[in-house]
Amino acid sequence: MSENKLLKRWEVEESLTWDLTRLYAVPEYFEKELKSFLPKSEKIQQKYDGKLESSDTILMCLEEYESLLKKVSKAGTYSFLASSVDETDEKNQQRLAKAQMIFSKVMGNLSFIESELKEKPEEILQEAMGKTEKYRVVLEDILRSKPYKLHREVEKTLAFFDPVLEAPYQIYNQAKLADLSFPNFIVEGKEYPLSFVLFENEYQMDPNEKIRREAFQSFSKELRKYRNTMAATYQTKLQQEKILSDQRGHENIFEYLLFDQKVDRSLYDRQIDLIMEELAPHMRRYAKLLQQEHGLEKMTYGDLKISLDPEYDPKVTIEESKGYIKGALSILGEDYLNVVMRSYDERWVDFAQNVGKSTGGFCAGIYDYNPYILLSWSGLMSEVFTLVHELGHAAHSMLAAEEVSLLEMDVSMYFVEAPSTINELFLTNYLVKKSEDPRFKRWVLSSMIANTYYHNFVTHLLEATYQREVYKLIDQGDSVHANTLDKLKKQALKDFWGDAVELSEGAELTWMRQPHYYDGLYPYTYSAGLTVATAVNQRILKEGEPAVKDWLDVLKSGGTMDPVGLAKLAGVDITTDKPLKDTIAYIGTMVDEIERLTEEIHEK
Ligand SMILES: [Zn+2]
Repeated sequence: MSENKLLKRWEVEESLTWDLTRLYAVPEYFEKELKSFLPKSEKIQQKYDGKLESSDTILMCLEEYESLLKKVSKAGTYSFLASSVDETDEKNQQRLAKAQMIFSKVMGNLSFIESELKEKPEEILQEAMGKTEKYRVVLEDILRSKPYKLHREVEKTLAFFDPVLEAPYQIYNQAKLADLSFPNFIVEGKEYPLSFVLFENEYQMDPNEKIRREAFQSFSKELRKYRNTMAATYQTKLQQEKILSDQRGHENIFEYLLFDQKVDRSLYDRQIDLIMEELAPHMRRYAKLLQQEHGLEKMTYGDLKISLDPEYDPKVTIEESKGYIKGALSILGEDYLNVVMRSYDERWVDFAQNVGKSTGGFCAGIYDYNPYILLSWSGLMSEVFTLVHELGHAAHSMLAAEEVSLLEMDVSMYFVEAPSTINELFLTNYLVKKSEDPRFKRWVLSSMIANTYYHNFVTHLLEATYQREVYKLIDQGDSVHANTLDKLKKQALKDFWGDAVELSEGAELTWMRQPHYYDGLYPYTYSAGLTVATAVNQRILKEGEPAVKDWLDVLKSGGTMDPVGLAKLAGVDITTDKPLKDTIAYIGTMVDEIERLTEEIHEK
């Protein structure tokens, strides 16, 4: 959609927007509350800094900290949400900037809690844990990280250096978003504008082979100009992680990077090894099918994002989406469904498309309040998948908040996408079962493969495969440069796609496209959450009620368990190969079905 057709935010119909008055009736109330945070945090500091001597004092302090944090996060999310729907609104931007400034001061004032607790003898922390379940996880985390703590003054200095340590990511983003500029490209005498976003969101899916391939070439040519800058920036980040890992006394860089995810190396390696080996044949088959359907002489790397049936794109209204959501999620029972359906009645979702609204979709949970979901509703069926995904996050945060404290809400990165992607699977199950039309069925299944599984199990997994090789080098004291990175990325792609896909020149530069590498071992977690989701989805389809009950218990547990514990509660043992092997086999059966439906469509 071109910018000039878009409405201004104030022109958008109210029913398409989310209702932020549920947080503050008017912005003035927000302003007023914002002013109270600093003095409150100073009060906590005066009262407890250097005085966390007994278990009772520790618990009282955590209680006051949590209660302030609830308000601070609510205000923070409010200002973020308000600005995300209209980044051209200066008032909102000012509010956000002001809120951020106050929060960083508040968090600075309260940072003594963590550092002081880490210095306490284990017995006192154990004693506090014995007195209430409420802060068990927080205190356990403190105990876990105790051995890796540096001297208090060093930690403080490191905290001051935080913005500097963030520099590699900032520099990467500047290069990518500000400096890279792509000249127009020409196909059959017609000129096409090119940008990072245009390439990734449009041209790489373009059904016209010439446009797609020319765009890929022009895109790669420009990207290549920055490879040394980006490699040096990335190397700085890696070096930083290696130094911190060594200084804190971790056994190796993998252990250091997996520490916060609360999983061990075997879970990490399993995702990469098994997917590379067992998923590859199925995805090569899918690539072959794309090649056939599009009549391509050869399948190249730049063709992988095209859809199987580009002319077919079912439309759906917001009102109709309700029926789909209800139909898909009723399997989870009335309580779950009630939470989800409130999102329509209470306007949790911002559907509008307007100037200055941020792209993509997200869900932001707010403790003690309802979550909010940002979408840009285009009226296409694929939007229902995004909605059902975000509603999965929303329901997770609502159900967990009823049972656990704010300080126990954070779930390991390994697990976080399970409650959302499982809902995409329920929607798939529902749509396929309901329809008799082979073309529609094929569209549903291939969307699941081309979007959900491709994104989580291929794109990000191939990042993870490459990244593991990079970290192996770094861990043994080597450094990486543009040539090394090109080589490692190309190898990962080659290992996965084999002869099924030709790696066109420029494919090796894929490492330059993702900001994920600035987040440690993040890429592999996409496949981890979806593995749990697939295993639980299969279990629910097979066993019904008892499996649903277990899953709801998992959602209510929030972050009170590690990923192994959460998955176990859902009846899935992620310390074995089984769930992942089953998931890969399931993807295989989906590809089989897509092949069968394709034949059926052609016979007609
Ligand atoms: Zn998500």
